[in-house]
Amino acid sequence: SKADNPYAGAKVYVNPEWSARAAAEPGGGKVSGQPTGVWLDRIAAINGANGSMGLRAHLDEALKQKGSGELVVQLVIYNLPGRDCAALASNGELGPTEIDRYKTQYIDPIAAILSDAKYAGLRIVTTVEIDSLPNLVTNVTGRPTATPNCDVMKANGNYVKGVGYALNKLGSIANVYNYVDAGHHGWLGWDDNFGASAELFKQAATAEGSTLANVTGFIVNTANYSALKEDHFTIGDSVNGTSVRQSKWVDWNRYTDELSYAQAMRDKLVSLGFDSRIGMLIDTSRNGWGGTARPTGPGALTSVDTYVNGGRYDRRIHLGNWCNQAGAGLGERPQAAPAAGIDAYVWMKPPGESDGASKEIPNDEGKGFDRMCDPTYTGNARNGNSMSGALPDAPISGQWFSAQFQELLKNAHPAL
Ligand code: BGC
Repeated sequence: SKADNPYAGAKVYVNPEWSARAAAEPGGGKVSGQPTGVWLDRIAAINGANGSMGLRAHLDEALKQKGSGELVVQLVIYNLPGRDCAALASNGELGPTEIDRYKTQYIDPIAAILSDAKYAGLRIVTTVEIDSLPNLVTNVTGRPTATPNCDVMKANGNYVKGVGYALNKLGSIANVYNYVDAGHHGWLGWDDNFGASAELFKQAATAEGSTLANVTGFIVNTANYSALKEDHFTIGDSVNGTSVRQSKWVDWNRYTDELSYAQAMRDKLVSLGFDSRIGMLIDTSRNGWGGTARPTGPGALTSVDTYVNGGRYDRRIHLGNWCNQAGAGLGERPQAAPAAGIDAYVWMKPPGESDGASKEIPNDEGKGFDRMCDPTYTGNARNGNSMSGALPDAPISGQWFSAQFQELLKNAHPAL
């Protein structure tokens, strides 16, 4: 039977390709031994795209790293039809209707490799389809943030079917542990998003023959920048009788950080029928917000806005900003069972890999140009019409972005 928490008592796989890129950077040797996620972001990644390691090569290397102890390998399943429907930077290779290709050319071959008896001793964590289901709640008609592509993916059901199929196929393998993406507090932490998202996760986890038993847990904050724990204000605080929920930054959200959000989402999911042993992963790869600008105490009690803005670690211009954020730093180092309900802090997004290009760059991966990655962009409804906060001169998503890596090192918290 599967371990309750696969990370407990286990080492975690260090991706040699990421590790080499990190080690080649000045100062990178301080983190190049950390485990990061392996993103299967296109069909070709299964066998190794453009000369990089394929899935078998990673698993063979994982067996070497494992030795006689336990070892977790972290895979990101990321190739749904019509991928990234509310944005453009991580659009993928499959069109909105290509659910059959997703099943037969992507999930089935991955499942075949993971089922190989040779790999039965590895604990294989699969994080399933980042950002997809949340988009069906928040970015569809009826919301000011709707996009036509998310309407299409809601109507055709292919996100729900794809996630259900992946969970069922992969979850039936004895040593595979599925974690479903559950957004982050700055996305699903509002009342109109929270419960509806949890219901949709349940719907997807029971689609295409899957059952709730295929879900080991959920992952939050993947590739995002939301702070793990804000120490200088909490959701229950008020200033001169006004709740911090009314500050511009919090804007009626129920949560101020990822730890409180993850624990509450876990409780909600258990209340809907998920196993009471489910655990959460929090991606802490880029949410450290350290460095010289990090507040050391609460903000001034002049108003809720001075109080929150003066004290918050997360220094984004707006909570909805997501691309290559200026000022970000590496967060908590990966670790098992750090808090109640949390299976691990992980670095699923490999630090130093871009979230999207700052300007249009032709490519053969289906990746578009999203202006949220352009530092001169003044925003849209999804970020309160704010500046994007993105670093300049970024390459397309997934490619190495040295200037960002340097900033992540400099602003790491805990410091390196
Ligand atoms: C990109 C993927 C990449 C991943 C990890 C995503 O934003 O779309 O291609 O593998 O980030 O860097």
